[in-house]
Amino acid sequence: MNLKLYNSLTRKKEDFVPLVSGCVGMYVCGPTVYGMPHLGHARSYVTFDTLRRFFEYNGYKVKYVQNITDVGHIVGDVDDGEDKIQKQAKIEQIDPVAIAYKYENFYFDAMDKLNVLRPTISCRATGHIIEIIDMIQKLLDKGYAYKTEQGNVYFDIHKFKDYGIMSGRSLDETLSGQRIDIASDKKCNEDFALWKCADNGHIMRWPSPFGLGYPGWHIECSVMAKKYLGDTFDIHGGGIDNMFPHHECEIAQSTLANDTSFARFFVHNNLVTINGQKMGKSLGNSIDLQTLLSKYNPDVLRLYLLQNHYRSVLDFTEQGLAETQKIYEKFLDFIKNNAYSSDKNLLIAYPDVDECKMSFMESMADDLNTSLALSHLLQMLKIGNITSDLNEKRYIASILKDLLQNIFGLKLEFNITNNKESEIIDILIKLREQFKKDSNYAISDFIRDELKDIGITLNDSREGTTYKIEQ
Ligand SMILES: [Zn+2]
Repeated sequence: MNLKLYNSLTRKKEDFVPLVSGCVGMYVCGPTVYGMPHLGHARSYVTFDTLRRFFEYNGYKVKYVQNITDVGHIVGDVDDGEDKIQKQAKIEQIDPVAIAYKYENFYFDAMDKLNVLRPTISCRATGHIIEIIDMIQKLLDKGYAYKTEQGNVYFDIHKFKDYGIMSGRSLDETLSGQRIDIASDKKCNEDFALWKCADNGHIMRWPSPFGLGYPGWHIECSVMAKKYLGDTFDIHGGGIDNMFPHHECEIAQSTLANDTSFARFFVHNNLVTINGQKMGKSLGNSIDLQTLLSKYNPDVLRLYLLQNHYRSVLDFTEQGLAETQKIYEKFLDFIKNNAYSSDKNLLIAYPDVDECKMSFMESMADDLNTSLALSHLLQMLKIGNITSDLNEKRYIASILKDLLQNIFGLKLEFNITNNKESEIIDILIKLREQFKKDSNYAISDFIRDELKDIGITLNDSREGTTYKIEQ
């Protein structure tokens, strides 16, 4: 497979060749668990799950590492605000650890519904305090960080000449833009907290050589990526809103702490907007996944997200979702009505169908162009609906099912009951044929009529017998 991926580091599509042949190491920034998962989470994690599935489909072994931020993410991403989890704990009057655990469960529950595979390694910031302290100490020892009188440790951004290179934000620009939130003890506004001193009111705090405190947000990803994937690894993913400052900070501290380059590819999914407005919890227009998934089949939402290329802005509308529902039902009906045959020998190749599959794979390999890939599946469906060749229909149904389930990650849940159902109907069709051969028409008609009574119609033709289930 020749996969091209858009690399935010170079701002162009590049051939992706993994560091270790046949294996892919991916780190994707996970959620900060202080609130309900929303549509933005769904978009990001469905994107990277689909990338992972595409690699795995093509025979790669993927190590997918994703963190859970359960401490240190400051409100507004600035260093003198309050920890988001601590803040929510005060609102709900429960322990911050309980807050993190509660929303982590909500997060995984929503992702399970969307059929997002669990990470190979799911790691929490609070479980890596020792490694975090180690990396901070290394940065202090090398003179890339400094400790202030208040007990905070900051990364000295002027020590990293490439800061802002990916996002195109130069230090001068950011200096003029963000004066308002400067913490009093920083040398420079862009310096970011590696360790924050914690007072008695802060429950989540740990002893360290720098004093009692808790880690900053950016350092956790550098530490966990290093621990599980090594200093240099294949792909770092996340939402585009993480590119600056979060990923720039990760690059700066990892490069200087490890004396080598960090992720080889940075892949960013774009934002979700609602009526052209950025979606956000603080903006009050955030769409909560639990509500959305109670109204729509998770498969439909997943397909809707994949209908748009991950690098374009997705303007969410319920009307769009309803249209996707129609497409989804067409796929589902076709597969359901044609995929019953368990006899794989019947499946011979059909070049026009194979061509669609090849185009699908090529679109996916071209920077994960899921929207173009979907158009090839629709083309296949069209061929399937036109042809009167039952074998070709079955052939198409089996390919659609394979690609939709294993690459697009749809559950197509009818299969769970329908597989058994189909097998039983298959047996009944064979029995009926036998009775007909033996001229026992009373029994063969009985099978046909009884099936009809429960909404299963048998159609006899020269090629054999097919059936249709009435909805
Ligand atoms: Zn991160």
